[in-house]
Amino acid sequence: MRDFSTDISALALNTATLGHNLDGYGQGWPVERVIDACAERGIGGIVFWRREIGDRAVEIGNRVRAAGLEVAGLCRTPYLTGRDAPDTLDEARASIDMAAALGTGVLTIVTGGTEPGTKGLLESQKVLADKLAVLAPYAAGRGVNLALEPLNPMFGGNRTCIMTVDDALSVCDRVGADNVGIAVDVYHVWWDTRLAAQCQRARGRILGYHLCDWREDTRDMLLDRAMMGDGVADLRAIRRAVEDAGYTGPAEVEIFSSRDWWQRDPGKVLDTVVERFRTVC
Ligand code: ZN
Repeated sequence: MRDFSTDISALALNTATLGHNLDGYGQGWPVERVIDACAERGIGGIVFWRREIGDRAVEIGNRVRAAGLEVAGLCRTPYLTGRDAPDTLDEARASIDMAAALGTGVLTIVTGGTEPGTKGLLESQKVLADKLAVLAPYAAGRGVNLALEPLNPMFGGNRTCIMTVDDALSVCDRVGADNVGIAVDVYHVWWDTRLAAQCQRARGRILGYHLCDWREDTRDMLLDRAMMGDGVADLRAIRRAVEDAGYTGPAEVEIFSSRDWWQRDPGKVLDTVVERFRTVC
């Protein structure tokens, strides 16, 4: 395993950690201030959300690199399955274009839920694979990889049709494109005692690793993620599973926390992120 205690170059900030992904949350730091604050602390990369970028993708990407960081990813495509996704391929293509303009090679996909008129997951996974088969070559032509993120099963129904690494890999297999892989997020996989074996199956296809922690008493499904070290996820074991499968990319801190971290000073949040990254991740 990599030694994060002495080298934090793999640390990437997902800007959701500062509340930037939802209107009315966080302290409203502009993108430039976030970039500078990350650079000052030696953070190696930043992952943005589309709403922050607008039509400034090239400018922001260049700004990040000028500060010595990389754009480690972009969140995310629109839903591709479920009741809210009858016709989102054009928007998905636009999100691929945005990732390319930012200069990042990773675009995260949260799939969307169960297809209207179907039961269970398999029919929805087929629809997902068909849409990915359309998007994958478009993304490949722009140097963008698509990272399918399995979600915690509590998000089944309306947000996802893949809930385990195995689910995500089965969809990847069905698509069969070199630039379609998976993202492993602690919040979504911490409960899975068979994670290590699934990561072995994912060798060469892990495109992202997302860090936070799981609160023993979660108060909100979506917006109550814990800072690393404050919960019950076995962070070292999860990272070992991912790195034993050959993953050497960014470790992206992604903490949605409306009741706690989003209410704090962003500079202090970043200081805590760095300290926990060195000591408990
Ligand atoms: Zn994630």
